[in-house]
Amino acid sequence: MPAQVGPVADLALYDPAKGVVTLEDADRLRARVLVVPVLGKYPADVGATFSDGRSGARRHNAADIMAPRGTLVISADDGVIRRLGVSTLGGITIYATDPDDRFVYYYAHLDGYAPDLHVAQRVRRGDILGYVGTTGNAPPDVPHLHFQIMRLLDRNRLWDGVPIDPKPFLQLPGALR
Ligand SMILES: [Zn+2]
Repeated sequence: MPAQVGPVADLALYDPAKGVVTLEDADRLRARVLVVPVLGKYPADVGATFSDGRSGARRHNAADIMAPRGTLVISADDGVIRRLGVSTLGGITIYATDPDDRFVYYYAHLDGYAPDLHVAQRVRRGDILGYVGTTGNAPPDVPHLHFQIMRLLDRNRLWDGVPIDPKPFLQLPGALR
């Protein structure tokens, strides 16, 4: 099912289950003109997997982009690298924010980071962040980028924003800057 995108009156009416965002946030995110964050992939290659179920009560809340292991992962937007870390589910991950600190971009299952990638680094749309892999809970034979967008509510809780379906907002093919 394609995600439903706004409008709703205010933040309290967000419905993450449907990928609904406020009209203002939808406009702002659309204005970022995001690129598909995997080199050579097109908007049509982005999986409509936002609402898929996962184990327990979890929902996927992300788009999966299939690509061979080692394919370049590139920054979807301009912004700042906020957190680099390894987790059980996400494997090797990156959290970045847009220039207004309104949205968080989460990249997971990476094979590794680009050389010298570091927290507080400013990045531009199309900069190389890392490599597609299967770290975390990705099947070892299905390398892909798990890409999530969240509306940031608390700068100290990057992982705890309101999920937004990335698919309608990934407007340009993945290309280097
Ligand atoms: Zn995923």
